[in-house]
Amino acid sequence: MRLVLLGAPGAGKGTQAAFLKERHGLAHISTGDIFRYNLKNQTPLGLEAKKYMDAGELVPDEIVMKMVGEKLSEFAPDEGFMLDGFPRTVAQAEFLKSKIKLDGVILFHVPDEEIVKRLSSRAVCKDCGNVTSRLHNDKCPSCGGELYTRDDDNEATVRSRLKVYHDQTEPLEDFYRAQGLLLEVNATGHPEEVFKQVIALLSHDKD
Ligand code: AMP
Repeated sequence: MRLVLLGAPGAGKGTQAAFLKERHGLAHISTGDIFRYNLKNQTPLGLEAKKYMDAGELVPDEIVMKMVGEKLSEFAPDEGFMLDGFPRTVAQAEFLKSKIKLDGVILFHVPDEEIVKRLSSRAVCKDCGNVTSRLHNDKCPSCGGELYTRDDDNEATVRSRLKVYHDQTEPLEDFYRAQGLLLEVNATGHPEEVFKQVIALLSHDKD
């Protein structure tokens, strides 16, 4: 299966991707994670992307499309994967359409104010990368590792990222709806409840 996970930052795409990977063995391609990995290793790609990431803006299409094109070429034609954080513009979606055939696009709906609340307490484990909330944890609940806050999870940057989502990424909802690919999920509940909806939609979609 080849899926796109669509939704605002903090809608839970990464958490659901982790479930789909762990329980259904689907490979997870997150463009944000690839940029953060490059930044950590101080590569030219990472340093270029940082300028945009810190401002809550999108990295230019040409850079992202080249990077994703290379990533996709690592997969055999029959291998499944899910894309998390890509595409984010219509140009990126057109590029993806020219490269692969998608089976579905899962759209995670969460109201903006809930997103701001979630991201202001979001924390990531330094050791295992698990994403959690500071409201309930001082240490990683999965491995006990130390938690850190992403540089772009401050309220001002979160509000810019939400505006960018509404302006540049939301048009993809109609783009994929028109192709009959959009599967919509109410993502305000507990992650396990959201996952049940995802699985129900995917099994229904296969029939
Ligand atoms: P994420 O982890 O998906 O929230 O991505 C973090 C940041 O990486 C975004 O705010 C953008 O600056 C950049 N980024 C990730 N994916 C893309 C993409 N598909 N197009 C442009 N910029 C991206």
